[in-house]
Amino acid sequence: MNNGQQKRLANIIAFYRTVAMDPSSDLAQLVTAAEQCSALEAKCADLRRLLRKLEWRDDSGFVYCPFCRADEHDGHRPDCELAAALATENANAAP
Ligand SMILES: [Zn+2]
Repeated sequence: MNNGQQKRLANIIAFYRTVAMDPSSDLAQLVTAAEQCSALEAKCADLRRLLRKLEWRDDSGFVYCPFCRADEHDGHRPDCELAAALATENANAAP
C-alpha cells in the first residue's frame, strides 16, 4: 500500500469513526438497533429453550402438555398456545 492509499484509508476510517461516535447518526442508530435485535434474539432463544423444558409434563407415566392437556404421543391440539409459541422457533432461526 502506497502513501496515497494509506492516507485515503486513514481518512475513510476517520470518517466512519466520526459518524459512528455521533449517537444521533444513522450509522450509530443502526449499530444500536442491530445490537438490541441481537440481544432480543438471544433472549428469545433462551425463553424457547425454557419452554421446551416445560412442554411435556410427566404425571406418573402420563406425559401431557400443560397447556392443551394433550397426550405427548398425540401431539398438541391445533389451538395449543404453547405449540404456537414454539412453532415460531424454526421461522426465526438463522439459516
Ligand atoms: Zn399443547
